[in-house]
Amino acid sequence: MITLKEALTKSNEEMETLRQELEEKAKASGLNAYVGFESSGEGVPILIKDNIQVKDWSVTSGSKILQGYIAPYEATVIKNLKLKGMMAFGRANMDEFAMGSTTESSFYGATKNPHATDRVPGGSSGGSAAAVAGGIAIAALGSDTGGSIRQPAAYCGVVGMKPTYGRVSRFGLASYASSLDQIGPIAQNVEDAAILYDAIKGHDDKDSTSADFEIEDIANNLNPEVKLTIAVIDNYISEADEDTQRAYAKTVQKLEEAGHSIVHKKMQNTKYDIATYYILATAEAATNLARFDGVRYGTRAESKNTEELFYNSRSEGFGEEVKRRILLGNFVLSSGYYDAYYVKAQKVRHLIRDEFNTIFEDADLILSPVAPTVAPKIGASKDPLEMYKSDMYTIAINLAGLPAISLPVAKDDEGMPIGLQLIAKAFNEKTLFDGAASMEKALNYNK
Ligand code: GLN
Repeated sequence: MITLKEALTKSNEEMETLRQELEEKAKASGLNAYVGFESSGEGVPILIKDNIQVKDWSVTSGSKILQGYIAPYEATVIKNLKLKGMMAFGRANMDEFAMGSTTESSFYGATKNPHATDRVPGGSSGGSAAAVAGGIAIAALGSDTGGSIRQPAAYCGVVGMKPTYGRVSRFGLASYASSLDQIGPIAQNVEDAAILYDAIKGHDDKDSTSADFEIEDIANNLNPEVKLTIAVIDNYISEADEDTQRAYAKTVQKLEEAGHSIVHKKMQNTKYDIATYYILATAEAATNLARFDGVRYGTRAESKNTEELFYNSRSEGFGEEVKRRILLGNFVLSSGYYDAYYVKAQKVRHLIRDEFNTIFEDADLILSPVAPTVAPKIGASKDPLEMYKSDMYTIAINLAGLPAISLPVAKDDEGMPIGLQLIAKAFNEKTLFDGAASMEKALNYNK
């Protein structure tokens, strides 16, 4: 597949021909990575996760409840893409409302992993990652609330990047957990991810949590020769499977050979990550999803009165995982439990962020697994708690608001990709991408 960098040198006519080819290939692929083939604008086609508004498109967040909804406005990231020679093409499959780690909770059915079609591509941005890995998208946008860009990128052997909270506008992104959500790129390599990140980043008055300072473009100044101090969290790694640990050790060695210094650290609060995230994310989700009532958007169920209208529309429109999270979220917010769960989780969130900041006093980057295993088989993630546990390496980064990038580093014996992530200080995307470019070069890893 042509890279994003190369594609940006081509004419609009060439890109229109390529867009048609991608559509045909995607339909024939059987991956179920695209759930729509709408297009908007001219230029290099970029696949868009189905929770990002593109004006006049049907946008559904992978949910039955939004069937029939047409986006009346454009997300800021889409406007920004169009200013940089790119266009929105196709809607990528995803877990319903971005809640999940496998893309199996989508109303459109599961997406398949191009490396083994009986396996999941990860989630929730599984369609975006599978399409880039499967050669049916040049690059894609995903969203990451607790790992949803980085984990599918790792499972599919591509590059996925979550920006610092506030660096990319959330205007036009369907909210899952507003204090954690960020849009970011999924691409074939680090440079392409930087090009796409450069295009979408920046201040936006329409997002009140958007950082109000600009930073320089990264892709043009990418420095793979940088020498950094990289922290390894010793007590963290042992929870990953053997193949991942082996890939980790080899990567550390290659980074040292490339001239980086490695420092060994420990983190005490990691055992609270999953509980803290699933309290805060579900609390925010329950609040955000209250707006889907059958009156204002999408599907409306048969009913005799208003109460039944809400009840039936929500019962029929939401899938099982979304309902579970609404129940959990309303529980932790309810009177009598609010202090014990929600308030306490907010306090722990601060401890988690402080612990990262302490490590960054001695290190430029942290190297970490993305997931404890490679992509599981389709249908194997039936136990929700087991699925939540598989987010152990990604969610703390969202709780702390940090930028991180997932890179493919190896394959297991069955040919399934293994990814590792680099994590940087808030708003230090330049160091993050330089480190990633260096790691990509040092590993010389061929997918
Ligand atoms: N797997 C996590 C969850 O289910 C993260 C999802 C995401 O980042 N959108 O909440």
